Amino acid sequence: MAQVYNWQIHRRMEYPHAEHHPQRQFAFVFNLNRCIACQTCTFACKSTWTFSKGQEYMWWNNVETKPYGGYPQFWDVKLLNMLEETNPGGQKWNGKTFEGKTIFEAAQKHIGEEPQRVLGYLPTDEEWRFPNIYEDTALSRKGVPDAYDKEGVKLPEHRTWFFYLARICNHCTYPGCLAACPRNAIYKRPEDGVVLVDQERCRGYRKCMEGCPYKKTMYRPTTRIMEKCIACYPRLEGRDPETGGRPMETRCMVECIGQIRLQGLVKIGKDGGWAEDRYHPIYYLVKIAKVALPLYPQFGTEPNGYYIPPRWVPRAYLKQMFGPGVDHAIETYMVPERELLAVLQLFRKTTRVIFRYEIKEGPKVFETEIHGKPFTLYNDTVIGYDDLGTEVIRTQVEEPFHVRPNIHQNSI
Ligand code: SF4
Ligand code: SF4
Repeated sequence: MAQVYNWQIHRRMEYPHAEHHPQRQFAFVFNLNRCIACQTCTFACKSTWTFSKGQEYMWWNNVETKPYGGYPQFWDVKLLNMLEETNPGGQKWNGKTFEGKTIFEAAQKHIGEEPQRVLGYLPTDEEWRFPNIYEDTALSRKGVPDAYDKEGVKLPEHRTWFFYLARICNHCTYPGCLAACPRNAIYKRPEDGVVLVDQERCRGYRKCMEGCPYKKTMYRPTTRIMEKCIACYPRLEGRDPETGGRPMETRCMVECIGQIRLQGLVKIGKDGGWAEDRYHPIYYLVKIAKVALPLYPQFGTEPNGYYIPPRWVPRAYLKQMFGPGVDHAIETYMVPERELLAVLQLFRKTTRVIFRYEIKEGPKVFETEIHGKPFTLYNDTVIGYDDLGTEVIRTQVEEPFHVRPNIHQNSI
């Protein structure tokens, strides 16, 4: 195994391949405080890429209700348990450093039927059946799938909560799927870090499905090969005529009704980390404001999907899911600074990929206190630019106020 640096766990780690990095990396931020589980993203993806025979159970984008939902069912709980069994009591963070075992390190210690390069498992057909199982479910009988309480409904005796977790392939820096493939059929594009399956080389062994901790490669029984999210790469390449050759966000991002999604292509430096790009919106949210966090960073794949955690969910659960940055992220989000509030306005305002933003200061609108902290709202204007520096969006912090005329056509 090679030694590679994973900034999300703040240390070097073992990985089956030597360190290589793309020039830019496909990355996204989802604001989980805003997802309404309308599944528009899910269907935008399905109607574009997975509507054919053999793809009936294939949902490259899915939105599951946590804590009980999952597609495939139990995907995270199963892997967390396997890691715990391999390293009992040792899966811990020490500050920003993860001191436990990643899926690559744990694989070497795991006593399985055959040696693995990546610790993982193959979900059953039953687990893939219901992409939306336990939707809107805040209570379940622990450990009993598909069960209902025979004694009838009881009022909850503890605080109930749930949230919607929207997921696509994370186009990981150190993909578990790629590491697990015995045919080297999975590759990461040097220009944008998108992870793809070479359909000619793949033989459908499903090792990538076993090795992806997020279970985002899927088997197509009609062709007997694997398929996965392709990050709508023709759109990223600017091949959609609508954009005049400029990069465009993916279908799932663009259609998001809740306006929770922002996608970008971040610059990668010579050392493999994100190159400083102060006014890139994704760079700002992840590296400067630190409001957006990776999903299960302890798995070790350095996923490139980032989440603003939901503020009402118990912190212990969120820390297990998003790592040690949760308190800072939520506190920053709840009382946003001027710049953060302006950048948050860029979510879903344009179909173009934004490469840089600029803020023009506006007047003070009001002052208040949020959770005992002072907060001032300014009506700033935020401008987004594409890769050529052309303005693609201009919007304000305050929503425009429209007054309807007294008489309008559909009055009754
Ligand atoms: S999320 Fe899974 S399928 Fe996507 S790149 Fe990472 S390991 Fe591979
Ligand atoms: S379209 Fe947006 S709001 Fe609707 S489910 Fe998907 S991520 Fe959530």
